[in-house]
Amino acid sequence: MILDVTCPYCEHEFKDENEDFEESEQYEAECPNCKKVFGYSISISISTYSCKLPCGGQDGDGPHEWKPMTGFPTEYFQNKCYCAHCGLVREMTESDNIKEKTVCVEGLNV
Ligand SMILES: [Zn+2]
Ligand SMILES: [Zn+2]
Repeated sequence: MILDVTCPYCEHEFKDENEDFEESEQYEAECPNCKKVFGYSISISISTYSCKLPCGGQDGDGPHEWKPMTGFPTEYFQNKCYCAHCGLVREMTESDNIKEKTVCVEGLNV
């Protein structure tokens, strides 16, 4: 693996090659600019993001909160919707379409 290291003496940035390294071990490198030897350690951070799934997840019974999908090509996403919580994708059913249309009609009447 090629690592980007910065020399603590002259702030020269260069690439150091380090095969099978261990996280939080200290390694030494020689700066090609000022020729000083310095130590560096590697930190790998994997972060996760958690969110609530009120619908019970992709295998849950729901209720899923369906949102129409948009994207390109439009024909591909046209009849698809996804759950805003768990990301489950399904074909939009006829009842979903009717519901959308009803909302539009109501809006016009006001
Ligand atoms: Zn240096
Ligand atoms: Zn869901």
